[in-house]
Amino acid sequence: MMKTTAEMKDAEGIGIYIHIPFCVRKCLYCDFPSGPAESGRIRAYMDALVREIHMCGEEGTRADTVFIGGGTPSIVDVSLMENVFNELYRVFRVSPEAEITMEANPGTLSEEKLFAYRQFGVNRLSIGLQSTDDRILRRLGRIHTCEDFIKSYGCARSAGFDNINVDLMFAVPGQSSEDWRRTLHSAASLAPEHISAYSLIVEEGTPFSRMDLDLPDEDTEYRMYDDTAEILAGYGYRQYEISNYALPGRESRHNSAYWTGKDYIGFGLSAASLRRDERYRVTDDMEEYLVNAGNREKMLADRQELTDNDRISEFMFLGLRMTGGISKTEFRNRFGHTVREIYEPVIRKHKEYGLLCEEGDRIFLTRHGIHVSNQVMMDFLLS
Ligand code: SF4
Repeated sequence: MMKTTAEMKDAEGIGIYIHIPFCVRKCLYCDFPSGPAESGRIRAYMDALVREIHMCGEEGTRADTVFIGGGTPSIVDVSLMENVFNELYRVFRVSPEAEITMEANPGTLSEEKLFAYRQFGVNRLSIGLQSTDDRILRRLGRIHTCEDFIKSYGCARSAGFDNINVDLMFAVPGQSSEDWRRTLHSAASLAPEHISAYSLIVEEGTPFSRMDLDLPDEDTEYRMYDDTAEILAGYGYRQYEISNYALPGRESRHNSAYWTGKDYIGFGLSAASLRRDERYRVTDDMEEYLVNAGNREKMLADRQELTDNDRISEFMFLGLRMTGGISKTEFRNRFGHTVREIYEPVIRKHKEYGLLCEEGDRIFLTRHGIHVSNQVMMDFLLS
């Protein structure tokens, strides 16, 4: 009989995600729920967020990580952000050693904001740089230059941030392997504690999807991916997930908790949650959100009780994203079966193809397996 994880998880702390759906201007590739807004709208939204947190029914729940993402949270006035933090600290028991991350865009940060974030308890900053090449930044429709980033980065260090992530993007229009290598060297030489490097995916409905783009071919993209791990390793970064690299001990705790199936609650427009074996998300309709934020039940959408098969699939699907893969012991403890009882043919097949590796207690993707991770992971989905 498979054990339910809900009670086990209640003893653990959770992650909290807060979505701020505003940006100065929409980037040409972006399909996130975000966009420009006037100040009255931003105020109404931040007030709604406070109501949503107030009414969530999670008084006293321990939070080990908090992530304020977007959008561009750093465009919001600090007094409005302070209200959200106050409510968060009132409702949740945020651990004294919690990792509290704020996403920010170069060109939207100021000393005043950075010092305020420190006072709110923010101890990790995630800065969206994407490229150190101004020509590429213009192609992406970004609002900032590399110089803006360097200023923001310096300001963040001066304000006391000793844990900074830098987001980079490769395989973008007009980018050569050499361009990408230069960006990696320039970003890594600043020694941020963490670097995320995602390849561009041209999503339907974005301006990019309607443009004739000079994208790098598949071989170039493959090489860019391999260069990323190799160059960053030279600066001391270890790849710990398909797209994430960290200096020792600086892995993102918030994202790692997500990849290991820990509970999290999302607040704000279209934010997703996983709580006590139920998955749901907040409406993506702004008007509905502003009206119903004080009544969380009314604005939750896509509610789904996870079945045993869902939980097992997710454990494998998310766990294999990490270079350390999954623990066979943990699998047995969580699901009451050995991983081989459920997945023997799949594991054997991918080991034979050289896509999966098994060492001691762990099963993980090989380097080649990482390149075709989507295909491998599909085989772990149970219906
Ligand atoms: S700043 Fe980020 S969220 Fe905003 S439009 Fe650009 S990519 Fe999207």
